[in-house]
Amino acid sequence: MKHYNIPIFVPHLGCPFDCVFCNQRHITSADDTIDGNEVRRIADEYLSTLPRHDRFIEIGFFGGSFTGIDPILREELLAAAYEYVKRGDVQGIRLSTRPDYIDKERLDMLEKYGVTAVELGVQSLDDGVLLAAGRGHTSEQVYDAVRLIKKYPFALGLQMMTGLPADTPEKSIETARRIIELDPRDVRIYPTLVIRDTYLETLWRDKKYSPQTLDEAVSLCSRLVPMFENAGINVIRVALAATEEISPDGAVAAGPFHQSFRELVDTEIYYDKINVLLSGEKNIVLRVNPKDISRAAGYRRKNIKRWNECGISVKITGDERLPRGQAETEVI
Ligand code: SF4
Repeated sequence: MKHYNIPIFVPHLGCPFDCVFCNQRHITSADDTIDGNEVRRIADEYLSTLPRHDRFIEIGFFGGSFTGIDPILREELLAAAYEYVKRGDVQGIRLSTRPDYIDKERLDMLEKYGVTAVELGVQSLDDGVLLAAGRGHTSEQVYDAVRLIKKYPFALGLQMMTGLPADTPEKSIETARRIIELDPRDVRIYPTLVIRDTYLETLWRDKKYSPQTLDEAVSLCSRLVPMFENAGINVIRVALAATEEISPDGAVAAGPFHQSFRELVDTEIYYDKINVLLSGEKNIVLRVNPKDISRAAGYRRKNIKRWNECGISVKITGDERLPRGQAETEVI
């Protein structure tokens, strides 16, 4: 069954904060006007383009801090989305918000309107990094929010960032380790980009902040993704989706942007995984699940080229018997 999201962006609605990295108008390319009718218009438009069968659809409120929106408007948006759940047109509603905008009253409203998944922007579980990023909440508030969400039937998603001011790879790995202890269903990992018209851009231009290089961000993410996946947690996104706006020609002033960032990360993960299997042999047949062939070969066949440069010939074939992520080698 294929999974589809109907994304509805609620930029900066209800968010009085100014995290140093954030300019939601750029990130979502949307303005601040949203109401129940707009939810219906977007949902109808998406539904008319999606297949009628064999589908799992969620309406997703992304962008700002959904549970910080004025309660009357929040209820109007939820009620409009819930009409589609009740009719069976969509199977759930998901939303993203801040940890300090979680309390019983807000969660009761989400449960009443059929919300199925709540994602928290955690960004870091290091209090020094949270402070330097201007998040306006502490790691303790994340733990409190997670404890409360887990009393409800919502799937939990947690989002983390890498390369924030005062952050280090070690702190990001520690954040990932603590996120795993919190046992979310899903995570998203966002390497920090310097978005135009943010305080981070000022820090960067004043040479008080250096973003991760692309190699550093890919290398760190290629360690984080297996940590989560080995713990049975879905990594549903790595890096902001490249769009006209999220690009160096748009809102991205600096930072580890690449339009195929996830492929670069998968390339490194497979390179490390397969290197362990090569054990000094020079002519290898590598068998992987057919869906993993391009990942094993690497972005633009980078892994094949690297092995060839070391005098190793690797022929990759698909093998349906192998689960995703597994590989077998045979010496020829
Ligand atoms: S809380 Fe979210 S929406 Fe608000 S400034 Fe921070 S990142 Fe942006």
